[in-house]
Amino acid sequence: MNKFDPATALAAVQRISAERGVNPSINDSATFTFEHGQTMTDTFHGETEGMYLYSRHWNPSATALCNALAAMEGTESAWCTGSGMSAITCTLLQCLQNGDHCIASMTVYGGTFAFLNNYCKRFGIDVTFVDSTDLDEVKSACRPNTKVIYTETMSNPLLRISNIKKLRKVADECGAKLIVDNTFTPMIFSPHKLGADIVVYSMTKFINGKNDCVAGAICADAEFINALIDVNNGTAMLLGPVLDSFRATSILKNLYTLHIRMQQHSKNAMYLAKKFNEIGIKANYPGLKEHIDHDTIVEQMNYGYGFGGMITIDMITAERANALMELMQKKGIGFLAVSLGYFRTLFSCSGKSTSSEVPDEIQHKMGMSEGLVRYSVGLDNDIEHTFNAITECLKELKFI
Ligand code: PLP
Repeated sequence: MNKFDPATALAAVQRISAERGVNPSINDSATFTFEHGQTMTDTFHGETEGMYLYSRHWNPSATALCNALAAMEGTESAWCTGSGMSAITCTLLQCLQNGDHCIASMTVYGGTFAFLNNYCKRFGIDVTFVDSTDLDEVKSACRPNTKVIYTETMSNPLLRISNIKKLRKVADECGAKLIVDNTFTPMIFSPHKLGADIVVYSMTKFINGKNDCVAGAICADAEFINALIDVNNGTAMLLGPVLDSFRATSILKNLYTLHIRMQQHSKNAMYLAKKFNEIGIKANYPGLKEHIDHDTIVEQMNYGYGFGGMITIDMITAERANALMELMQKKGIGFLAVSLGYFRTLFSCSGKSTSSEVPDEIQHKMGMSEGLVRYSVGLDNDIEHTFNAITECLKELKFI
């Protein structure tokens, strides 16, 4: 386990707004005025510290959120985007160009998989998908033109854990950047501290935790972030997926409760995983000793946030999975909905939803059953009551 504490690092970022509000004021301007024309020119070339030019580049509200995110991740800098996908695609397009090669985990989020597998072809970028937990496979995929190794800390939906420290070594050997999506495990993992060059997030999930907006983040060194928003060549500046100030400010407030939420998500998920096993429904949860990557998560995780809020159970067929999810929703256990990290429990059948972009043969290779039900466990105060309600559903359907 690691000593770094992201919540304490975050708490150290204390700002008082110009009006002495404890929350930063929302900056409601797309453009900013200058007293002198020369300062505007200098700012355009990135040569004036603390000046704002135009909100697609930087904005005071976005800056406040980015400073907090950088502190939480232990990176020099950060930039926030209008979605997790835009954080991922801008980062990849900034690192890869025509003729480059990328090694990616085959279990990445379906949208990321589709981007790498289908869309990157337009740019002449070659992608090899591997089992990122098999370091020999990753090593043997390396080529002289490999520029990026891309993985997720906790894979979706099988909840396999990447060994970031070891992937760092492979990335060094092949001269590639290591990019890690930490959407499933904010605070639990600090991928940059473990060796990742760039950490990306869908803040739509745990970081915001309210399911009221879509947002993303890129955490990296200042050189990378400045290149990303360079007015002439920066992918984020030119594609323009900026996060709105109102959202940046509301996400910042939610960020400061993330540590408590992660602890409760983890506590509830661990409870459900153990209880499912007791009634003979095999649960997949990295916090359980029998999970294939239990030792890897223990070795890399930060202390005090648990093993995350995601668990899966296998209902064998999509029909059975649907019947269970429909009944659970009817009984008020949570929502039959994609996404994760919400305060209520969400459940979905991964193969038919969030991973449906992944071709069947790869789903089989990953070991994904068509009846896999993924739970993003909520913040329920009485999780025993929740489990009893789930058990009633399983009994009513004669699954136990
Ligand atoms: N990364 C992961 C691991 C995800 O699960 C998702 C969405 O489900 C994304 C990225 C994409 O994020 P967004 O929907 O915010 O664009």
